[in-house]
Amino acid sequence: MVKPVVIGNWKMNGLTKEADHIVSSLLAYAEKHKDFAPTVICPPFTQLYHVQKHIKDTPYALGAQDCHVAEKGAHTGNISAAMLKDVGAGYVILGHSERRSDHKETDQLIKEKTIAAQKAGLLPVVCIGETKEERESGKYKDVIASQIKGSLPENFNGLVAYEPVWAIGTGVSAKNEDIAEVIHFIREKLVAQYGENGKKTPILYGGSVKPSNVKDIFAISELGGVLVGGVSLIPEDFLQLVTIA
Ligand code: 13P
Repeated sequence: MVKPVVIGNWKMNGLTKEADHIVSSLLAYAEKHKDFAPTVICPPFTQLYHVQKHIKDTPYALGAQDCHVAEKGAHTGNISAAMLKDVGAGYVILGHSERRSDHKETDQLIKEKTIAAQKAGLLPVVCIGETKEERESGKYKDVIASQIKGSLPENFNGLVAYEPVWAIGTGVSAKNEDIAEVIHFIREKLVAQYGENGKKTPILYGGSVKPSNVKDIFAISELGGVLVGGVSLIPEDFLQLVTIA
């Protein structure tokens, strides 16, 4: 059985000193343990090169948190997928709810970014998930279905992360039966859209994943891994997730 992947999203955190602390803990762990979950760390752009220098040729993979749709050119302040690939990234998180809200990112834009990421040889981790109001009004499945349809391209080769917005950074994860229901629903949609390929797409959960709930979360059938925010900055806790996975 393929082990579920653990992806750490540092968000807008990680000065060099903190990055060094996290990375040195991860490296020390990898020295002692050989058989652990595939683990991806996604530092901010400013730390990608630095982190890559340390994790190159180790079991850890590098990811970024966004990319631009264009390959290069006059887009001041932006970073292309080709640049991420060039610095050693293998993954890129796209359509995170914080980007959807902070930068008004639309499904269409996320789809274009996903295409750009794939073209550059990156694995996109496309995030979807409903807000608290959408969950409470019972519309969450419609929202998720429309995000899948709108954000994923005709040919998709990546991962999907279900991150209910109300569970992010709150310390309160979604209930296991709710996660399981949505993961199953996403799987149905992916199979309807992509046939056999849709059966293979890893579906992750994110939102207040921590050492105390990760075991239960990993018990959910069809779960392809977890996308972790806050805990990815605390190496002792993050490594517990990696161990349990
Ligand atoms: P937390 O784990 O801090 O809830 O964040 C989840 C997340 O947004 C990961 O992308």
